[in-house]
Formats: sequence, C-alpha cells, structure tokens
Amino acid sequence: MKRPAIHIISLGCPKNLVDSEVMAAALLESGCALTSREEEADIILLNTCSFILPAKEESIEEILRLAQWKAAGKCTRLVVTGCLPQRYGEEIARELPEVDLFLGTDEIGRIGDHIRRLIETAAPAERSVTPEPVFLMTAENRRRISTPFYSAYLKIADGCSNHCTYCVIPAIRGKARSRTQEDIMMEASDLVRCGVRELIVTAQDTTAYGRDLPGKPTLPDLLRKLCTIADLRWIRLLYTYPAELTDDLFRSIAEEEKICPYIDIPIQHIDDGILRMMNRRGNSDLIRDVLRQARDIIPGVALRTSLIVGFPGETPARFKRLLDFVAEARFDHLGVFTYSPEEDTKALALPGHVSGKTKEKRKSRIMEAQALISEEINRSLVSSIEEVLVEGESGVPEYPYIGRSRRQAPDIDGVTYLRGKDLRTGDFVNCRITAAEEYDLFGVVIAQKET
Ligand code: SF4
Repeated sequence: MKRPAIHIISLGCPKNLVDSEVMAAALLESGCALTSREEEADIILLNTCSFILPAKEESIEEILRLAQWKAAGKCTRLVVTGCLPQRYGEEIARELPEVDLFLGTDEIGRIGDHIRRLIETAAPAERSVTPEPVFLMTAENRRRISTPFYSAYLKIADGCSNHCTYCVIPAIRGKARSRTQEDIMMEASDLVRCGVRELIVTAQDTTAYGRDLPGKPTLPDLLRKLCTIADLRWIRLLYTYPAELTDDLFRSIAEEEKICPYIDIPIQHIDDGILRMMNRRGNSDLIRDVLRQARDIIPGVALRTSLIVGFPGETPARFKRLLDFVAEARFDHLGVFTYSPEEDTKALALPGHVSGKTKEKRKSRIMEAQALISEEINRSLVSSIEEVLVEGESGVPEYPYIGRSRRQAPDIDGVTYLRGKDLRTGDFVNCRITAAEEYDLFGVVIAQKET
C-alpha cells in the first residue's frame, strides 16, 4: 500500500515548532511519508496556536483555507493539533465538520497511532481528543528539525505554573514540568552530532527549570553542562522570568564563552499596580535591579524584552511610566503586544479595559521610541568586532551574505549583512561592523573560523 504523504504546517512559537518536529519524526517512524508540498499531501496536519486573539484568528483562517482545499479534492484528511483544539476542542469540532480530527497537546507522542486509525476508519469515533496535558517530550521522541541545519530549539520544559492573569498558557499546556538534565544532554548531544552549532533554549518559563525535579537542578547548572558538548558553538536563552533571574545565571553567561551574552527577559510592564494586577512576581525595583545586575555581570550583554500595552487599568499616567521606562532601560531588542482579553483569564474581569484604538496607539508610541534606541545602540557597535553565524546569501550586492551575531536571535531580532569571500552557510566568522540601521548590522569579514 502506498505510504500516506503528510504535509505539516506549524503556527505559533518555537515551542510549538518543536512539537511539530516531534510529530514529523513520529509520523516517519510509523510509516508515513512527509511532503513539503501541500498539493502532494494526502493528509494535512495543522499544528495551531491560540494564546491570544490574533493567533486564534490566524489558526481559524488557516483551517478554513485548508477545509476549502480539502473540499476541492486536493487532500483526503485534515487534522488539527495543538493549542487551539486543546482550548476549544469540542466547540470547534462541532463548528468545523470539515476537519477529520482535532488533537490536543497531549497527543503529540501518539500522533502515529491517530493517523493510522484515521486512515483505517472512514470516520473516527472521536473527532476531538484533548485530555489534560501532561506530555513532556524526551530524547526518545526523535525530532525532524525544520530550522536550518546549524540551529535548533531545545525545549527543556513544558507547561507553566505561573498564573499571570492575562495568560491562558497554564490552562492549555498544563503545569510546569522539566526534562531531566541527562535527557536534555542526550538530545542536545545528538543534535550537535547531526550538525547543529547553535542551541536556543526554550520553555514557557526557562527560569522555572528544575523546580519540579528531584534534587532541583538549576538552569545555570544545565547551561554549564551543555557547554561541555564539544562541537556546540552557541547557546542562547529565551523566555526568562525577571524575578527568577539569579547572580549564578548571569555568572554562567559571563563565564562560559559558548553562552551568548543575550537574554530574553519579558517584563510585560513596569507600573507596580499593573504588575500586581497581572499577578507578576517582583515589582519595578526588582526589574531595575535585575537589568542592572545583568549589565554589571555580563559585559556587552544584549537584552530583549516584550511588553503588553493596554492592560485593564492602564491609565495614561501608567502608560507614560512604561514609555519613560523604555527610554530609561534601553533594551537592545523589544517587542510589544496589545493586551488581548481572553476568556477564562482573571484579567478579563478587571475594571478599566482600554479601547482597541488606544492600545494600537500606545503600541506604536513604544515601537517608535524603541526604534530610535535600537538604532543608537546599533550605531554604537560600528567599528566593533562581532562573531557572526553565516546563514546564506543576502541578494544585496554590497553585502552578499547574511548572518546573525551573538546579539541576534533568529526570526525575532535583526540580522547582520556581511561582506566576505566564499562564505559557507553555517560558518562562524569574525567581522568588523561598518554600518548600522535600526534593526540590522553590516560588517566586513576579518577572519573566518571553522564551523
Ligand atoms: S510566565 Fe505568565 S505569561 Fe508566561 S506562559 Fe507562564 S503564565 Fe503565561
């Protein structure tokens, strides 16, 4: 019998992407074929995101598009997995009969069985399978990496036990649960053996790592262990929680050459009243202290944050406090979300909701202020020497290659355009920065290193 060809579409964050990669490998192991072309697929699997309204809308739009595709006879089965069915399984199964199967986040490891049953039965008995999420990937779950060969996300934990009042993630993903250090090391070593040189450490909250494990291993311990993997060149840390950042973590970043001097610290807001209503641990003093410590301990550290504007109760004065703080803190990279009122969250019932128009205006004001700061910081890097990972050709004649410095994470930060000769994708080079724009750097290669 011909092997069913499956096309996977992954929406949302890097953590979701890792789930898609685990499902891709499991499907191959269970005898399916994968195709990158939608038109060749017998089955299309859409791994969705639904943490805020725009993500939900994107997921629904994609389902509707694929439902039409299926109705036109282009594929025989449509499967929707991940956060959207986990959150609204029964409801959307009723509303979207074109979808053959909805699977929650706990079904990742059993995807092969589900697909086999789907092929064998004309109509599955249960169209929505969404038990309480407890799944945690291990090194035994193989992954089919979909990022470039030299870079991969490393998911060290799943779920979240922080209950920020605006966030549905704990309800969708379950409680925080960490992988053991041994298991993570096994997977990381395998990834490096297959050519990965940059590992990007992720979880819903990476600083919660280990709290649920016997002996309570810490994130700095784990990072130091990862540094012992011989051919690994860069380790990058995303999604930390300000109140959980420790001296030890900063020292590990400062002392270990392989850990990029880069930390993603989503602070969400700076106004103490808003932070309290968000149920965030730590106040504005703590956030200021943490940023100061990071900069004192890690020379040249690049700090990234994300903010929420228009949270209920964000008066003009509170917003001004945030805007002033953006100017004061001078983050290297910054993203802004407008507050999204989500059902089943405590924030929804708070007084003082802000209009959509005001939220958008506030977002623009922060982005404008940050653009100037990012440009100034980037300009201050001109003449410095930066190590860059070459990612390919740029199509820009003056700087024909493109890459990322230790200060730049993939997809969310800018890039570095490079002038050099015969650079290979995946190479590490030293370059002198010659020019800078708001988000991107430009440099001339002065020394090529081995990959
Ligand atoms: S830390 Fe807060 S915002 Fe982040 S996933 Fe957990 S609950 Fe959501």
